[in-house]
Amino acid sequence: MKIKYDYIICGAGLSGLILANKIFEDSDFDNKQILIIEKNLSDPLNKTWCFWEKKNSSWDDYVIKSWDKLLFNSPNFKNETFLSEYSYKMIKSEFFIKSILQKIRNSKNFKIIEDDVLGFDESKDRVIVKTKSNKYLANQVLNSVVDIEKIKSESSFPFLLQHFLGWTIETEHDFFDDNKATIMDFNIDQNNETRFFYVLPISRCKALIEFTIFSKKLLEKKNYDIELKKYLSNLNLFKYDIVEKEFGVIPMTCHPFDNSNTDRILNIGTAGGWTKPSSGYTFKYIDKNTDKLIVSLKNNISFSKISFKSRHWIYDLILLDVLFFKNYMGSVLFTKMFSKNSMKKIFSFLDNESSFIEELKIASSFPKVIFTKSLLRNLGKILKYYL
Ligand SMILES: Cc1cc2nc3c(=O)[nH]c(=O)nc-3n(C[C@H](O)[C@H](O)[C@H](O)COP(=O)(O)OP(=O)(O)OC[C@H]3O[C@@H](n4cnc5c(N)ncnc54)[C@H](O)[C@@H]3O)c2cc1C
Repeated sequence: MKIKYDYIICGAGLSGLILANKIFEDSDFDNKQILIIEKNLSDPLNKTWCFWEKKNSSWDDYVIKSWDKLLFNSPNFKNETFLSEYSYKMIKSEFFIKSILQKIRNSKNFKIIEDDVLGFDESKDRVIVKTKSNKYLANQVLNSVVDIEKIKSESSFPFLLQHFLGWTIETEHDFFDDNKATIMDFNIDQNNETRFFYVLPISRCKALIEFTIFSKKLLEKKNYDIELKKYLSNLNLFKYDIVEKEFGVIPMTCHPFDNSNTDRILNIGTAGGWTKPSSGYTFKYIDKNTDKLIVSLKNNISFSKISFKSRHWIYDLILLDVLFFKNYMGSVLFTKMFSKNSMKKIFSFLDNESSFIEELKIASSFPKVIFTKSLLRNLGKILKYYL
């Protein structure tokens, strides 16, 4: 442990690399030494990250496809919307991770190693990061390694899993309208859960079709395949090649992850609770929270004093609580939200950027008795979180 790094970033996934990239691009960090520890450097998980944002952003170099038109579909409501100032964008993790690692690898500030982080030992003036094969010393640690099962078992908050299987398929002939992405299609058997499909056409004959569930438990593996086949045959699609598969599980919880931040260790990404509890979207939260984090790093603010709290946490908690106790209601609730509010207002609400008046309007789309009961059930947790 000869070197004391300024920062050790644990995990070179989305949050670790967005942070590393922002540090790399900011000359205020030119004299900092940063170590990145990733257990899977040679074979990172292949994920597809989608998100909406106002037209241009610093991530556009990594976007492989974007759409200006979105479809929401359910048994009682169908709506196609031109997004005007927004676009819905897709990034493939493999390309993103490879490009950013390549960019920072040759910088004199960064060292990147493959190892398994096992734990931390923090004292007043340093943190020791223990890995499978070594120990590393840091001034501060940014940690994106998370044990979801452990948090689930310890948490007193409603906990759902967003789990999905996506197939990227290729068709022999043009089939898809690649100007349009389907953000939610609820026209499938809900099986007493919240179930929908994404259809994300990359070209006219290639698309990612994703079967997504919000529920307490995963399905048996073969059931994801069965539902995907059924959906495709309902689209009259029988001849296709599956060129890629993507299985994922995202925690949906208002668990206060940031309570475990300390003066020198900050949890980032999903580990920091930066996954939107009621939707699973994470990309933009990581981007925004990292901007805030960069300011705190520059001002040497103790990590235990940084807060990422937003009043939208309350809306997430209530929606999640309703879905936890009435898991079958997702289709109805999202239909109400999408049929009574414009896509622009919904995006701004889901981005935690809406005004209080806009939030009241969106909240009024939902069944009042059920939501009031949920609010009362969670009043204690809400007060505790804010006091
Ligand atoms: C398949 C999938 C698709 C998703 N799609 C979307 C989407 O479309 N839009 C969206 O907004 N969000 C999406 N998400 C949610 C979220 O954006 C991603 O999970 C995102 O990768 C979270 O970033 P992160 O940095 O928190 O975690 P990760 O990107 O998973 O990074 C954590 C890193 O830590 C490494 N690691 C783990 N354990 C150790 C250890 N002990 N030691 C060292 N390294 C370790 C991992 O290998 C990984 O590289 C998706 C999630 C999944 C699983």
